[in-house]
Amino acid sequence: MIYTPHPDKYSQMPFRRCGKSGLKLPAISLGLWHNFGGIDTEENARSILRLAFDRGITHFDLANNYGPPAGSAEETFGRVLRSDFHSWRDHMVISTKAGYHMWEGPYGEWGSKKYLVASLDQSLKRMGLDYVDVFYHHRPDPETPLEETMATLDLVVRQGKALYAGISNYNAEETTEASRILRRLGTPFIIHQPKYSMLVRTPENGLLDVLEKEGIGCIAFSPLAQGLLTNRYLDEIPADSRAAKSWGFLQQEEITPGLLLKIKALSGIAHRRDQTLAQMAIAWLLKKPGVTSVLVGASKPGQLEDSLKSLENLRFAGEELGQIEKILND
Ligand code: NDP
Repeated sequence: MIYTPHPDKYSQMPFRRCGKSGLKLPAISLGLWHNFGGIDTEENARSILRLAFDRGITHFDLANNYGPPAGSAEETFGRVLRSDFHSWRDHMVISTKAGYHMWEGPYGEWGSKKYLVASLDQSLKRMGLDYVDVFYHHRPDPETPLEETMATLDLVVRQGKALYAGISNYNAEETTEASRILRRLGTPFIIHQPKYSMLVRTPENGLLDVLEKEGIGCIAFSPLAQGLLTNRYLDEIPADSRAAKSWGFLQQEEITPGLLLKIKALSGIAHRRDQTLAQMAIAWLLKKPGVTSVLVGASKPGQLEDSLKSLENLRFAGEELGQIEKILND
């Protein structure tokens, strides 16, 4: 059936300026790391993407290696773009990244110009796009000179293959240095993508301060700690959950009795706020100064529907925040 986006899609979503740039991002963005690969069901992927767009999620985040197999999430996204969203490209902010292992040999990962240029060309081909809105360097490379990596971000923007440049997984010092180089080059470096959630608060140790000082936006990835900050694991490890899968980065051993106690206590606070734990975890991040957008994943449309409801209550009483801190720090 031909897809027609919901006419009220924009009224349902707050849009926030990304740092000091001209680009606004939806408060909630959708990531395609899991559940959009060749091993997944395309109809489910399509349903999630349609729901997202219908609800004002204009930003879709990919990377060269998303799948599995690597590259297949971009292929799936490309097919759905062609079938459903072909007249809506100008309403979408699409990002991709390169940095992790993509192909064998010395030119298939990290941060050389050789790798990044080839990888972006491959990503554009897989998605059937002329350009992406944001191209990220996915992780710092300890060997390639940062000048080379940053000059490549600058190059692809000048070539029109990306509109804006971003970095991901860089710490505060690395970000300061990247920003200094990109500023000198005149590159629109507008966004950083760190891992940030109630359970992973590394960006609070200096990175958020750097981003604010430099006028760079922040999009928090794995805001639900890959599903730990949801009701998914409260009673058991469901067979269809990420932790139950043989591949991926969420291991069952991480779900310790101590962590479960914390999650249950957080879930209790969420319940008193009339929210699910996922909704509270997203709202908590959206209240953090400097966070532009929260980049969620979803394995089913219902999960995204649930996560979107976080926007209905972003207020926290001081007492609630205190209780949350206590649980997280105990
Ligand atoms: P989340 O922390 O949002 O975890 C998503 C998972 O949580 C889902 O797959 C699902 O698990 C579960 N879930 C989501 N919503 C709900 C809900 N409302 N109720 C119950 N369970 C829910 O994010 P991801 O780890 O998926 O990361 C999001 C995006 O961030 C990625 O797609 C990618 O774009 C980006 N990212 C970037 C990285 C980088 O290095 N720059 C690294 C990792 C991610 P289940 O599958 O078990 O149902």
